[in-house]
Amino acid sequence: MRRRDLLDLLGRGLPADTVRWDTPVASIRQTPAGVEVEGESYAFAVGADGVRSAVRPAVVGEAELRTSLLSTASWRFMAPNPGVDCWTVWSSAAGAFLLIPVDAKEVYGYASALRGGTVSADPEWLRTTFARFPDPVPQVVDAVLTEQSSLYHSPVEEVRVDRWTNGRLVLIGDAAHATAPVWAQGAALAVEDALVLAELLATHDDWSRVGPEYERRRRPRVDHVQAMTDRLSKTASMPAWIRDTILPFVGPRTYRETYGPLRSPP
Ligand SMILES: Cc1cc2nc3c(=O)[nH]c(=O)nc-3n(C[C@H](O)[C@H](O)[C@H](O)COP(=O)(O)OP(=O)(O)OC[C@H]3O[C@@H](n4cnc5c(N)ncnc54)[C@H](O)[C@@H]3O)c2cc1C
Repeated sequence: MRRRDLLDLLGRGLPADTVRWDTPVASIRQTPAGVEVEGESYAFAVGADGVRSAVRPAVVGEAELRTSLLSTASWRFMAPNPGVDCWTVWSSAAGAFLLIPVDAKEVYGYASALRGGTVSADPEWLRTTFARFPDPVPQVVDAVLTEQSSLYHSPVEEVRVDRWTNGRLVLIGDAAHATAPVWAQGAALAVEDALVLAELLATHDDWSRVGPEYERRRRPRVDHVQAMTDRLSKTASMPAWIRDTILPFVGPRTYRETYGPLRSPP
């Protein structure tokens, strides 16, 4: 699903002016009655502002971001679908190249290093790194380098903090627990956080009790995804001959162990 489609879906049915677009939050602080955001008072505030959250310092102080064990950065892009019909990844010691079909015409692509390697912000990195990969990888690289409008380079950073709540201020999604996209769970965890928090706010009269309860509900699931992310990142970073020997055996089991616990409602 594209981000703009998700935003359209979430915004449907909201009264006009509920969302204030293009309004960056820089100042936020606890008050005896609730939370003050940019000088305005609220009974409760949620920091859903991503990996470089401006809200997080008000909850946990300045926390250092952790570089992913897998890759310092990645390229993401949309490209014409070369004929893949399921989640398909090619990898070597040089890097990993993932294609996920959006539909018959288009794929979402992700390319990164392995073993915590660097990924140049020069798009030519894609050509150099994946030149010797089998088709359709070089063909897709050619397509995205010819039409670069969807190419997006960003660091792969993680947030591992021991607190997501402070009084009536709560962090959700990447602001609380950004995790390398090894299991593609970041968006799901963020949406689950929002659902659980909405349920707790709707069922508690005393909102000062919501934060700890939210954290108690969400920690085990997030801890699980982060632990499995580290596990697969380490496996993927092994020397190729070991990785390629053990993955056919441990891969399916790890897949079940990762996704199995996530099938129950949050
Ligand atoms: C390379 C890569 C690939 C990924 N692939 C997948 C995948 O396949 N599947 C998956 O589920 N997840 C994936 N993820 C993770 C996923 O993108 C995130 O987990 C998800 O977007 C988190 O949602 P969020 O709403 O918490 O944060 P974000 O999506 O980062 O949204 C934060 C929002 O806050 C706004 N904002 C930021 N600062 C401020 C401020 N000061 N004031 C006001 N607004 C602000 C931003 O503009 C943005 O709109 C990937 C991540 C990376 C880095």
